[in-house]
Amino acid sequence: MNLSSIKNRIINIAHRYQINISFVHPEYTSQTCNSCGFISRKNRKTQENFKCVECGHLENADFNSACNIRDRLLLDVLRHKFLNINSFSEYKTKDFKKESIKFILEDYYRVA
Ligand SMILES: [Zn+2]
Repeated sequence: MNLSSIKNRIINIAHRYQINISFVHPEYTSQTCNSCGFISRKNRKTQENFKCVECGHLENADFNSACNIRDRLLLDVLRHKFLNINSFSEYKTKDFKKESIKFILEDYYRVA
């Protein structure tokens, strides 16, 4: 089973139980510091640990990524920039190039 069919299967099961499914862009979720927003591969020294080379924020890498995914959906500015809502109140990603996603994230965290 490939990733796309797993995704479709999850959507189908969720809808069967009337659960909404939203998606965010996955780019940089594992490289972005959830504390200061600094984006770098160097933040991710190991698979398990996240340590921001800018602010020193230390966190379990999966937890840091999960917080970034949450923020892209729950923070108004990021949600409006990156996502569209459909008639089922589910969010889907707008089309962006990877470089544009990084630029928008860096701009957001510079202001925030
Ligand atoms: Zn940081």
